[in-house]
Amino acid sequence: MTPATTRFAPAPTGRLHLGHLANAIYVWGLARRFGGRVFLRIEDHDRQRCRPEYESALLDDLDRLAIGADEPSTDDLRRGSSPFRQSDNGPVYEAALERLANATDVYACDCSRSTFAAWREDHGRAWSGPGCPGACRSRGLDRRPDLGLRAAFGGDETWDDLLVGAQSGPVATDGDVLLRDRNGNWTYALCVVVDDLRHEIDLVVRGEDLLDSTAAQIRLGALLGRPAPPRFAHHPLVHRPDGSKLSKADGATGVGELLDAGRMISSLIGEAAHAIGLQASPDPIAFERAIELAAATSAV
Ligand SMILES: [Zn+2]
Repeated sequence: MTPATTRFAPAPTGRLHLGHLANAIYVWGLARRFGGRVFLRIEDHDRQRCRPEYESALLDDLDRLAIGADEPSTDDLRRGSSPFRQSDNGPVYEAALERLANATDVYACDCSRSTFAAWREDHGRAWSGPGCPGACRSRGLDRRPDLGLRAAFGGDETWDDLLVGAQSGPVATDGDVLLRDRNGNWTYALCVVVDDLRHEIDLVVRGEDLLDSTAAQIRLGALLGRPAPPRFAHHPLVHRPDGSKLSKADGATGVGELLDAGRMISSLIGEAAHAIGLQASPDPIAFERAIELAAATSAV
């Protein structure tokens, strides 16, 4: 069995919630399954939505849960600049952008949400596939900080997902992949691929809501010189009772708040493990036991 390097990569746009806990169970579980390591990464590429106080709370919550990565420690991150925090590594993404521009057409795009909405209004369906509604690929717009940057590419990618089996999908789902947005933020699509490459991540464990973005990330990695994509494992999500996806807006499921209210750690882990089908009831269990259950779900 090949050892793996994977990562737990929350975005500090809110407090740690049960969905993160479910992800952590799978990340540490599959790392255990493959005898591997876990890195902690702060995905704060979106400077409008991320806040330092959320990062602090997130690190505190991980410490309270006694969930620790092999690298870096929460104290390493508290001490200041880190290769594991995206906002500290702008030049890395800048360099990746230039590498991409040598490998494919990277172009400026002035389409906004309202451009996409207007196209949907006119055509009765959302924009899908490569390009963008404004046909910016062929307009030769100058790169400016207030314009987005997209990479032109098409076709499909395939992969064998460790949890959901053989997958295939288009690299451009709702337009050419955006690398930098109109607010000057590097996008999740670019940062995640660059970080996984530079930290030699070869096992990506995340929720099923990201299945559709996987093909684009495989292609971006290849264009950046990655010899082979990482292995992917997409796990079930924690849902609200009405079936919708749990989000950071659901304060009632915040790990810190629940611990403050007197809930036991094992009770939260049991609830998260139950919500994603790892155990039949929400009975309290230790994190160690939960990750054994997650490890046993891998197809390989
Ligand atoms: Zn455009």
